[in-house]
Amino acid sequence: MARIVMKFGGTSVADLDRIRNVARHVKREVDAGHQVAVVVSAMAGKTNELVSWVQQMPKVAGASASFYDAREYDAIVASGEQVTSGLLAIALQSMGVDARSWQGWQIPVKTDNAHAAARIIDIDGSELIRRFEMGQVAVVAGFQGIGPDNRLATLGRGGSDTSAVAIAAAVKADRCDIYTDVDGVYTTDPRVEPKARRMKKIAFEEMLEMASLGAKVLQVRSVELAMVHKVRTFVRSSFDDPDAPGMGDLLNPPGTLICDEEEIVEQEVVTGIAYAKDEAQISLRRLADRPGVSAAIFGPLADAHINVDMIVQNISEDGSRTDMTFTVPSSDAEKALAVLAGQKELIGYDVVQSESGLAKVSVIGIGMRSHAGVAASAFKALAEKSINIKAITTSEIKISILIDGAYAELAVRTLHSVYGLDKT
Ligand code: ADP
Ligand code: ASP
Ligand code: MG
Repeated sequence: MARIVMKFGGTSVADLDRIRNVARHVKREVDAGHQVAVVVSAMAGKTNELVSWVQQMPKVAGASASFYDAREYDAIVASGEQVTSGLLAIALQSMGVDARSWQGWQIPVKTDNAHAAARIIDIDGSELIRRFEMGQVAVVAGFQGIGPDNRLATLGRGGSDTSAVAIAAAVKADRCDIYTDVDGVYTTDPRVEPKARRMKKIAFEEMLEMASLGAKVLQVRSVELAMVHKVRTFVRSSFDDPDAPGMGDLLNPPGTLICDEEEIVEQEVVTGIAYAKDEAQISLRRLADRPGVSAAIFGPLADAHINVDMIVQNISEDGSRTDMTFTVPSSDAEKALAVLAGQKELIGYDVVQSESGLAKVSVIGIGMRSHAGVAASAFKALAEKSINIKAITTSEIKISILIDGAYAELAVRTLHSVYGLDKT
C-alpha cells in the first residue's frame, strides 16, 4: 500500500465527462489498495472568466498600484475549485468510492497574507491522514488556503500544482502525480514544437528554471517544494486510458519524474527551451550614475510586488549619467510606470520609455556548467533567422534572450533544433 496525492488540472476537469474520467483514475488507485487524496483545479477557462469579471468591475477610487481589492479578488477566483471538488466527490461516490470534498480553509492550508499570490506556510495533515485511515478519499480544492486575516487566499495562477505538492509533503505521500493535458514534461512546449521530446526524468533545478522561465506545466513554487521536501513528483496525462496497462505502476508510472540530478544517467548539455510571452521592457534614460540609484528604482517596484526580471545597466560614458533597462510582465507594466513616476524626484531620471509585446526565450541545461560556447550557438542561430536580440541574461544553467514577441515561436523552434533536441 502506498499513499498517493493525485492532482488534476483545468482541462482534466473541463466538463462532467472529464470529471467522470478523473474519477476512474482515482478509483484505479483506490482499488489497488492505496491511500489517495486528490487536488483539483477549476474547470478549464473558469479562473480566466472569474479574473476577467473582477477586472471589469469599476476601479476602487484612490487605488494606486493595485486596481482591485485583492481579498475580494481571492473570494471570487477561489470559487472555481470549490465547484470541481464537490463534483468529483459526487462522481467518486457514484462509483462506490467513499469520498468527501475539502476547501482550503477546512484542512487547513495556512498561507501568508499576500492575497492573490499567497505562499503556503503550513498545512495540518492530521485530518487528511485520519481520512486515509477511514479509507476515504479527500478531494481538496487546489489554489486556495486561508490567510492570517482568516480570509480566503489564492496561490497565484497555476497554484493547484503547489497545493498538491504541499499536501503530499504534509501527509508524507509516497508520490504526487500531476495529471494534465500532456503526458509529461517535454524538451519544450509540445504545442509550439511538435518535434519536442518527452523526458523520462528531469532534474529539480532544470524544472525550476523551465517553470520560472515560462513552461507553465508546473507552477514554480510547486517545484521548489518538491525539491525541498523530496516529494516524488510525476507529470502525467489524464487523457490516457485510466485502465491501460502500466497506468497503476507504483514505481514507474507513465510520465516524467522530477528528481535529483544524481538520478539522471545521461545528462545532456541543453535539456530544454522555455519561453514567456507578454514581457515588457522599461528603460530609464539619463539617470544619475551614483550609489543607491538601483535601490531607489527596484526597492519601490519590489514593494509593489512587481516581478522585475532582466536588468541591464549601461556603462556610463561620462561617469555621471547612465541608462537602466529591465523587463516586467506586460500585465505589470502600467503599475511599474506608475511606481516610477511617483519616484521620479528620488531616482532622478530624464525620461522613461517602455515597449510591450516582447518575448523571452530561454535555453536551459545543467550541462552548461561545464560546457563553453552554448550561448554563442544560440546567437548565431537567431541571427541566421534575422531575429534581433534586445537583451541577454545568463546564469550557470540558463541563457535568456529578449526578442520581439512575434518571433517567439520561431526562436523556440530554431533553438530546439540547434541544440539537437528535435525528435528523430
Ligand atoms: P493544467 O491545467 O493541467 O494545470 P497547464 O495548462 O497549466 O495544465 O499546463 C500544461 C501545459 O503546459 C501543456 O498543455 C503545454 O502546452 C504547456 N507546456 C509548456 N511547456 C511545456 C513543456 N516543456 N512540457 C510540457 N508541457 C509544457
Ligand atoms: N485554477 C487556477 C488557475 O487557473 C489554479 C490552477 O489551475 O492551478 O490558475
Ligand atoms: Mg497548471
